[in-house]
Amino acid sequence: MTSLRDGRVIVVEDLVVAYGTAVALDHVTLQVGAGEMVALLGPNGAGKSTLANALAGLVEPASGTVRVGGRAALIPEGRQLFPDLSVADNLALGGWRSGERDPSAVYDVLPRLAELAGRRAGVLSGGEQQMVAFGRALMSRPSVLVVDELSLGLAPGVTADLAAHLAGLNRSRGLTVLLIEQNARLAFELCPRAYVLEAGRVVAEGESAELAGDPRVAGAYLGGSVA
Ligand code: ATP
Repeated sequence: MTSLRDGRVIVVEDLVVAYGTAVALDHVTLQVGAGEMVALLGPNGAGKSTLANALAGLVEPASGTVRVGGRAALIPEGRQLFPDLSVADNLALGGWRSGERDPSAVYDVLPRLAELAGRRAGVLSGGEQQMVAFGRALMSRPSVLVVDELSLGLAPGVTADLAAHLAGLNRSRGLTVLLIEQNARLAFELCPRAYVLEAGRVVAEGESAELAGDPRVAGAYLGGSVA
């Protein structure tokens, strides 16, 4: 993997992003090392998707820097599939940049997608659609995966299944993951390190175990209980 200096693959420094006069990210600094799984936690409107889009080069910083080493892929919030195309065609679109046409490596990781290959993406369940979005991202053979709200709208069992796939790829292939989540339990369970974003600012960061034990974080994100 091409990593940036010091083995870091995501480096965000002093990033400011604004929509007109509304500041969505206010001097955000964070980093993710090669092979790490790191969570970015925050409530609605905190700026999480804006950060994901900045990492994907979809929004322009007003100031600060965003650097991503290696081949990065984004699983966007809301999946953003082509509903009238088949699962296989949605996957093929994910391989557009890498030139990968053969989905068999993705089917090895997510065998359910092979069964769904001929179905229209628009008729699938939420969990199945998230799996297609996951598979589409894997088609670009990423070394870094940014996941914007893995658990959104999914039953806990489905989320756990996708999370296990993600952890497996991290373990077996050293896939670097930035998991953007509102679900703190999932984020802390899956990722040893986390950042908490509120109103465009990083308000806490550190080991997940420590953050989960921090009364302010536990109060806001774990329903008051300490994990
Ligand atoms: P959610 O969890 O609800 O998706 P988020 O943490 O991903 O929220 P963002 O979508 O990044 O938050 O939004 C951050 C702020 O920027 C919000 O106040 C939002 O209203 C605003 N915002 C986002 N996109 C735009 C846009 N295209 N134009 C104007 N304001 C925007």
